[in-house]
Amino acid sequence: MEQQPLISIVLPVFNEEETLNETILQIQHYINSQPATFEVIYVDDGSNDDSVELIRAAIQQYPSIRLVQFSRNFGHQIAISAGIRYASGDAVVVMDADLQDPPEVITQMIEKWREGYDVVYGKRRSRQGESYFKKISAQIFYRLLSKMTDTEIPLDTGDFRLMDKKVITQLKRMNETQPFVRGMVSWVGFKQTAVMYERHERFAGESKYPLRKMLSLAFDGITSFSVVPLKLANYFGGLLLAIDFLYLVIHLLIGNMTTDHWIIVNLLGIGGGLSIAVGMVGIYLERIVSQSKDRPLYIIDELIGFPYQSKITKKNLVKNAHGIRQSANG
Ligand code: UDP
Ligand code: MG
Repeated sequence: MEQQPLISIVLPVFNEEETLNETILQIQHYINSQPATFEVIYVDDGSNDDSVELIRAAIQQYPSIRLVQFSRNFGHQIAISAGIRYASGDAVVVMDADLQDPPEVITQMIEKWREGYDVVYGKRRSRQGESYFKKISAQIFYRLLSKMTDTEIPLDTGDFRLMDKKVITQLKRMNETQPFVRGMVSWVGFKQTAVMYERHERFAGESKYPLRKMLSLAFDGITSFSVVPLKLANYFGGLLLAIDFLYLVIHLLIGNMTTDHWIIVNLLGIGGGLSIAVGMVGIYLERIVSQSKDRPLYIIDELIGFPYQSKITKKNLVKNAHGIRQSANG
């Protein structure tokens, strides 16, 4: 008989007492209907309501549930990072605890994973019950970010996704202090694909993402995956110097250079020069920033033809856990 994989589901929780019982119920119901084995990891991100008590009570009832309890609120992205770290599944699914991400979609994700994809992210076909402002700002943000970075971060996706164990292994190597998980997952590469889904309305309670947290997530995304802001000063300085040059040439050709004109030429020149000097600092800063992020220089998916090959690629092991290689090779 084919061995069933272990799937970890990670759910960050911050003051979700109004939804949690329903979430726990629906997730347990879902996993009982599936052939795979599951563990469900709730990461309490310093809730100050009864969330933790609800999870503790659920642990008494369901042996598949685990709790990682933070000492205070560290934020959604850090909660996800912690959950991933404590997950032991062959694949790990991250989803919100407010039932906006429907558990049934996990079935499609597992199917894609069994087909051989290493990351299957949920792409929102629609966002029900979210404010106009939230939808528009999210749209603008994702498009802006994709213009500013070389890492291809898919549009209209949140953190709802399934990741193979080998992706998790790489994520664990990335000790970033302001993690932007969806960017990091794109950055590590491997075979990635999407499944489309309808994003539901939050089951109960309010969004735990006030404007302040949303902006800070957006800034984390941009500053960890783009160096464009650091280079803006260079572009601006270059523009000023170009204007300065044209201004000078035109007035010299016309032959009407006055003291006022010289002052303007000097002002533009000083402004442009200073701006470029700042931009140069930015270019060196970029190197320090990327060095301090300490990301691996490259990630290897598979080494072929080396005598110690089987040791290095965990791929075969993982694939066996999916049951793919086994069934393919008989
Ligand atoms: N969350 C968290 N820490 C926070 C804010 C949110 O762990 O500081 C959790 C929250 O409980 C939920 C998920 O992250 O499970 C997404 O948050 P929310 O649903 O409030 O965001 P939205 O869907 O409104 O963007
Ligand atoms: Mg939500």
